[in-house]
Parts: sequence; C-alpha cells; structure tokens
Amino acid sequence: STIPSITLNNGQAIPQLGFGVWQVADDEATTAVETAIKAGYRSIDTAAIYENETGTGKAIAAAGVPREELYVTTKLWNSGTADWSGQQGRDAVLRAFDDSLGKLGLEYVDLYLIHWPRPMHGTFGNVWKAFEELAADGRAKSVGVSNFGQVQLDALREQSGLVPVLNQVELHPHFPQTELRAYHAEHGIATEAWSPLGQGKDLLTEPALVKIAEKHGRTVAQVVLRWHLQSGIIAIPKSVTPSRIVENLDVTGFELDTDDLTAIAALETGKRLGPDPQGFDWN
Ligand code: NAD
Repeated sequence: STIPSITLNNGQAIPQLGFGVWQVADDEATTAVETAIKAGYRSIDTAAIYENETGTGKAIAAAGVPREELYVTTKLWNSGTADWSGQQGRDAVLRAFDDSLGKLGLEYVDLYLIHWPRPMHGTFGNVWKAFEELAADGRAKSVGVSNFGQVQLDALREQSGLVPVLNQVELHPHFPQTELRAYHAEHGIATEAWSPLGQGKDLLTEPALVKIAEKHGRTVAQVVLRWHLQSGIIAIPKSVTPSRIVENLDVTGFELDTDDLTAIAALETGKRLGPDPQGFDWN
C-alpha cells in the first residue's frame, strides 16, 4: 500500500495507519486481522487487556507476510494485584511482557506501551525503568506510552534519557488534543490517535464532514482518517466489517484542502468519549 510512515525518535518507522482490535473477541480477531493484512495493513494495535493477543498472533502467523514487514503493538495493563513500585514492579512488568509475547507467538514486538499512567500511584516511573530494559534487549523495538499528559511526560523526560517514541491518546476532530500535539512535536514524541473515528458515533454524521465527503466522493470515515494523516498523526481505526476494513485504508488517493481543514478545525467540542486518564485507575 502507499500508506506513509512516520520516523520515530529512535530512527524506527511506523506506518501512519494501523489496525486496532479493541472489543474484538479472540477468535474474531484472527479473522479481522487476517482480513486487514490481506487488505494491506501492516500495523496492528492490540493490548493485554483486549484478551485477543492469541487470536491476533494466529492471524500474524497465518498471514504469509514476513515478520519484519509487520508492525505489532501491544500494551501493559494496569494489573491490579501487582505492586508496581521498586523491584516487585520491575518483575511484574517483565512477566506481563513475556506473557503478551508468548500469546502473540512473537520473538519481539515493534512497540510496547504503558497503557495508562495512573498518576495517583506514582509508579509509572518504575514501570518505565523496566521498559528501558525491554528496549535495551531488543524484545521491544520501541517503547512508548498511552494516555499520558504533559506532567507525566515531563517526569519521564526528567528521569530517563529514553524518551517515549509516541503517546497514544484519544484523538479525533471532536477532541483534537491541540496542546498535547504541540508538546509532543516540541519533544520528539509522535502522536498516535485512539478512537480516530470517534468510535463510529456522532462524529461520522457531522454535517460539515458529510459535505466534505460528498465533495471528494469519499466516505466520512475516509475524510476523518485523511485528516489524521495530513495532520501528521498516526491513526489505528478498528472495524470487523471487511468492506470497512478496506475503506479505512483507502485514504491516500485524495487531499483535503485548506477550506476542508478549516471546517474540520471548527468541530472541536472538547468532549472525550473515553475516561480522563488523570483519574483513570481500572484494574
Ligand atoms: P474507532 O474510532 O476506530 O471506531 C471504531 C468503530 O467505528 C467501529 O466499531 C465501527 O462501529 C465504526 N466504523 C469503523 N469503520 C467505519 C467506517 N468505515 N464507516 C462507518 N463506521 C465505521 O474506535 P476504537 O476502536 O475505540 O479505537 C481504535 C483503536 O484504538 C482500538 O481498536 C484500539 O486498538 C485503540 N484504543 C486504545 C485505547 C487506549 O487506551 N490506548 C483506547 C481505545 C482504543
């Protein structure tokens, strides 16, 4: 495919469009990821908590695409029982990583993320030390974070010479994360959007987007993903519908113009679909 890549702060490249599998059951994930790889996706985003690393790994094994051409991301869960501080925290992180790698059936992942910062525990700094070990031994080619705010990113940058390659956050035209993106750009951290399509809800019926889609002979989902690409954001849309899986990747054959971008910039509501990461502490 002609999907562009973004070069991360460690020199590695990530496709700007990937395939997300949140809320996809393990066996369904096998079918969906196989469909996605056949359609031309080369980047897959899963997480331990999605409980579909096994199904995702099966699809990767069956895909017939060389491992080095695929970009696989998984994430460390907020594991409830573990004490994430000090040595115990280190061991728990490494165990969780081994478990994910085993389920995926892989020798390395391209990207390992801290799923949530849980700032109320003050432990993500210790978690990051274990991530440094995983990056050093090459079993995670890159390490990064998810749902981090500027305060937590500042803390990591102060503690460590290893800057997260990216921060995966909720991001779509209703919640464009303008300030955080500027901070990322300033510090060499790439921005990855979760729920890039606004979870297929109100965003996809926005009249302004419908108009832009009609103008280009495209769907609203394609317009939104095109906006992510032109904004320098990495997007990981999810679908289990084969036609939509194909549709969401077909976003390189047109270009949004200045009028389109201005209209999309006016869609910000400031409303999240997901929880505010600063208070989020599910186990
Ligand atoms: P999304 O914005 O990708 O929307 C997916 C939904 O939109 C689908 O379930 C479907 O209902 C609809 N849809 C998809 N393609 C469509 C199309 N072409 N036309 C019309 N409707 C369409 O939402 P998401 O799944 O929440 O986010 C994408 C991925 O981001 C997840 O699968 C997961 O990998 C990741 N994610 C990460 C976090 C995190 O905390 N790091 C949180 C949420 C999601």
